Amino acid sequence: MEKLRYERPVIQKMSTGLMNKFGTRTENVPVTHIESVPVKKLIQEYGSPLFVISEKQIRRNIQNATRIFKTRYPKVQFAWSYKTNYMDAVCRIFHQEGSWAEVVSGFEYEKALNNGVPGNKIIFNGPDKTDEQLVSAARNNSLIHIDHFDELYSLIRLSAENNLKPRVAIRVNMDTGIYPKWDRFGFNFENGQAWNAITRIINSDNLDLVGLHCHIGTFMLSPSAYAVAATKLSELTWNVKEKFNKVLQYIDLGGGFPSANTLKGAYLPGSDTIPSIDQFADAITDVILGYGFKQEDLPVLILESGRVLIDDAGFLLGTVLANKRLSDGRRATILDFGVNTLFTAFWYDHQISTTQSYGQHTEEMVLYGPLCMNIDVVRESITLPLLEKGNHVVVHKVGAYNMTQWMQFITLRPNIVLIDNENNTHVIRKAETLENMLSNEQVPEYLKNIPLK
Ligand SMILES: *Cc1c(COP(=O)(O)O)cnc(C)c1O
Repeated sequence: MEKLRYERPVIQKMSTGLMNKFGTRTENVPVTHIESVPVKKLIQEYGSPLFVISEKQIRRNIQNATRIFKTRYPKVQFAWSYKTNYMDAVCRIFHQEGSWAEVVSGFEYEKALNNGVPGNKIIFNGPDKTDEQLVSAARNNSLIHIDHFDELYSLIRLSAENNLKPRVAIRVNMDTGIYPKWDRFGFNFENGQAWNAITRIINSDNLDLVGLHCHIGTFMLSPSAYAVAATKLSELTWNVKEKFNKVLQYIDLGGGFPSANTLKGAYLPGSDTIPSIDQFADAITDVILGYGFKQEDLPVLILESGRVLIDDAGFLLGTVLANKRLSDGRRATILDFGVNTLFTAFWYDHQISTTQSYGQHTEEMVLYGPLCMNIDVVRESITLPLLEKGNHVVVHKVGAYNMTQWMQFITLRPNIVLIDNENNTHVIRKAETLENMLSNEQVPEYLKNIPLK
C-alpha cells in the first residue's frame, strides 16, 4: 500500500468555493502524468521549471480543426502562425499535418525556410518587411500581404527594379462590431482605403493580386464578428471580379479563435464559455458559400489559427520554493517560475493542478513567482491544497505565446520537452546557460580589470 503523506494538524478557515448551478467546482484533481509520462520523472530528468508539449494533442487539434472546416467548405488551407509558438519541432509537426507557414518578420520567414517550407507556401504578414526581405520573398514566390501604402509603393518600385511580379494580397481592417477596433494593421474597408489599394495593385504591371487577408483580433469570443469579416472580404472579392474581371484565389481570415483558457476577470471558466471551432466554421462558411460565387471561382479559405491549436498542448511544470503569510493573513506560495516564464499570466487565470493528492484541506492563496519584482504574480487568488516547499505543480494550456514571448529577465529560460506520439521525450529547446547570455556581451578593454580585491 502506498504510504500516505503526513499531514500536520492545523486549524484554518475552510473554503468550499461558491455555489453555482453546476454545484461546487473543484479544480483540485491531481495531475500525476502528462500523456503517460510521470510528472516527477520529467522534473527529475529535465529540471524545474519545465515546459512540456504533447505532440499527440497538437496533431489532434489540427486534424480536428481541418475536419471541421473541410466538411463545411471544399477548399481550406491552414497556415501555422509562427509567433504563437515558433519552436522548430512544433512548426514541423504543423507542416507535417499540411499547414503552410504564416510569418510576421524576417527572422520568422527564415525560420520557415529552414524548416523546409517551400517559399510559395509562406505567407508574409506584418507591418515590418525590409526591402531585402520583400525582394527575397518575391523571388521565392511567397504570398506577400501588404500592410500599408508605404509598403505598397516600395513593393511596386522593388518589383519594377528587379523585374519581378510578386503574388500579393492586402490586409483589410474593418468594423466587425468588436471594440476597440483593430485598425492599425492593413487598409480600412469602410472608408474606401482597401478598395483604393486594390485598384492601385490591379493597375500596376508589377504586382499580381491573388487574395485578401484580415486578422480581426485575438481571443475573439464572437463567431458573428467572423461572419462580418467574411462578408466584407467576399464583397471585395466579388467587386474585383465585377469591375476588373479578375478572380481572386483566396480569402484569408487570419487567426484569433480563442483557446479554452480563462481570461482574467471572467465569471465562468473559459472551457464553459468560449464558442467551439464548429461555431466559427459555421459562421464563416455560411457567408462565403451563400455569397453566390460560381463554383469554379470559389476562393480558397485560408486560416492562420494560432492559440486554439497549441494552447492545450503545452504544460508548465514547477516547484514550490516557499510559503509565507502576508500581512493580511493570506497564504502566499512562491513558485520557481514567474511572469518572465509564464508571460500569459498577465492575461489568464491559468488552471493550476497539484501533482499528488493532498487530502481535502484547501485554502485561498496567492501564487508568486521567484522574481524580485512586485509584478511577479502567477495567480492573484486560487484555492489549492496546502503545498509545501519542494511540491510540484502543473500549469495548463500554456502552449501559445509563452515560448515566444517569455522574457530573459532575472532567471534563465528553462528546457522545453516534447512528448512524442509513443510517449518518448525529446528536449526541443535546451535550458539557457550563463554562457549563452555572455556569448552576446562584450566588455570594453578599459573595463576588463576592476580594482576590488
Ligand atoms: C498573431 C496572428 C495570428 C494568430 O493569432 P491567434 O490569435 O493566435 O490565432 C494569425 N494571423 C496574424 C496576421 C497574426 O498576427
